[in-house]
Amino acid sequence: MNSQVRVRFAPSPTGLIHLGSVRIALFNYIFAKQNNGSFLLRIEDTDPERNFDPGAKIIMQDMAWLGLAYDEGPEIGGPFNPYFQSQRSRVYQERLDILKEKDLVYRCFCFPEELEKKRKRQLALKQPPRYDKTCLGLSENGIQENLKKNVPYIWRFKIGETKKIFINDLARGQIEFDLQHFSDFPLTRSTGSFTFIFANAIDDMVMKITHILRGEDHISNTPCQALLFEAFNVSLPIFWHMPIICNVQGKKLSKRDFGFSLQDLKNAGYLPEAINNYLAIIGASFEQEIMNMNTLIKTINFNTIHSTSSIKYDVEKLNWVNHQWITQYPADKLAHKLMPFIADKYPQIKNLDKTILIELIKIIQPELKTLAQAKDLVTFYFEAPNIDKLMLANFASSSEQITIKAILDEHVKLLESPDQFYEAVKKAAKQKEISIKIVWQVIRVLLTGAPSGPGIKELVFILKPDEIKKRFAKI
Ligand code: GLU
Repeated sequence: MNSQVRVRFAPSPTGLIHLGSVRIALFNYIFAKQNNGSFLLRIEDTDPERNFDPGAKIIMQDMAWLGLAYDEGPEIGGPFNPYFQSQRSRVYQERLDILKEKDLVYRCFCFPEELEKKRKRQLALKQPPRYDKTCLGLSENGIQENLKKNVPYIWRFKIGETKKIFINDLARGQIEFDLQHFSDFPLTRSTGSFTFIFANAIDDMVMKITHILRGEDHISNTPCQALLFEAFNVSLPIFWHMPIICNVQGKKLSKRDFGFSLQDLKNAGYLPEAINNYLAIIGASFEQEIMNMNTLIKTINFNTIHSTSSIKYDVEKLNWVNHQWITQYPADKLAHKLMPFIADKYPQIKNLDKTILIELIKIIQPELKTLAQAKDLVTFYFEAPNIDKLMLANFASSSEQITIKAILDEHVKLLESPDQFYEAVKKAAKQKEISIKIVWQVIRVLLTGAPSGPGIKELVFILKPDEIKKRFAKI
C-alpha cells in the first residue's frame, strides 16, 4: 500500500472510553504502522450536550496509557489544526455555503415534536421512518416569512431518490445502499451547531483520510456521508466497519457489564499491553496468542479480516492474557505497577525495604490475574494468620505437631539464613522420621495460613526472624 495512508480515531468525548472504541483506536494505530501511514486523533465534540470530557483530557490520558501515540491531534497539533471539532465551525460553515450554492441543501422548519409524530405514524404503518420533505416544497415566500418570524430551522441535504450508493468495505467487500430508504439528512442543529454526519465527513475529506476503520453502528451513516464526498468531488475512503463487542450472552456490551469501559479495566488492574493484546486477538485465531505491539503490527492481517457482526468479550480469556503478561513482567517494574493497588489496603508497603518488596512481589506474581488481586495476596505478609490447634490438626497429628515444634525450637536460631534454616530442618525431619512434606505444610500454614504456596526459603527471607518466631509460637 502507498505511504500516504491516513487513518483516524474520532471519539466523542463521553467521559468514558468504551472497550469497543479502544479496539477501534488500536486497529487504526496498527493499520497506520503497517503502512507507514499517519494516525490522527480527532475529537468529535460538536454536541455540547454530550461533551463529558472537556478538552478530551481523559481520552488523551487513556491513549497515552495504552501506548497508542498519534501523529496528529490535540495538543501536538498537525497540518490540519485544530483537531477539536468544536473549534472547526468555520470549516463546516464554508462547506455548507458551497452546498447552498450548489443547491444541494434546504432549510427545514419542522418542529421536532411534529417530526416525532410523523415518525411514529410511519412506524405504526410499518413504513420506514423517513423525513417527508415538507420543507423541500416551501416557496421562497414561505421561507422568508418563517425567517422573519424567527422560526428555528436546520439545513438538510437533498438526497437523490433514485440513486444507489456503493461502498468498499474491507470486511464485507462492496456494500450497496438504495437511497430510497434514506432521508434528507440534517447537516445542522437548530442551535446552529453541525451534526455528526456532516462534521465527520467534512473532516475526513479535509484531513485527507484514506481508510475509515470504525464501529459497525455507523454503517447506516455511510451512504449519507458518501453523498457528501460526491458533492465535493472527493473520492471515498475505504471503510472497515468493525464488529460490535458483545457480552457472553451475545448482547451489546453495556454499562452493567464488567469491563465495559477502559476505566473499569484500569481500576481492576489490567495491563495496557494485555488489553491491547486481547482486543487485537479476539474474533480471530492465532498460533501464538501473546503478542506485544511490534508483533501485533507484524501479525494482524487486514486482508483476511472477515465480516462477523459481533465479537464476544470474554473476561476469562482477558484474565488469561493479563496473567501471561503479569508473569512476564520484570519484578521491579511489576512492583511499581502494583504499589497503588497494595497501598490501598496496606499503606505501609511504601516504606518496605526494596529487596523485601521485590521478593514479596516475586512470591505473588505467579498467582496474579489482575493487579488488584495483589492486595489480598500480600495479606500474609502484613497480617499473621489466625491459626489454632484444630486447624493444624488438618495437616499433622498431635505427635507430629510435637515433633515439628521441637524441630522449629531447635532451629529458629538459623532463621537469619534461610538456606541454612531450610537444610537443617530437612535434615532434622529425616532424623526424626517425619515426612518433610508435612513439615513444610505446617510451616507454611503457620506463616501464611495456607498449606501450599510460596517457597519456604522465600518466606523466611521476607518475614524475618522476629515475626517468624511469633508465628511459630502458635504450634
Ligand atoms: N465520533 C464517532 C464515534 O465516537 C466516530 C465515528 C467514526 O469513526 O466515523 O462513534
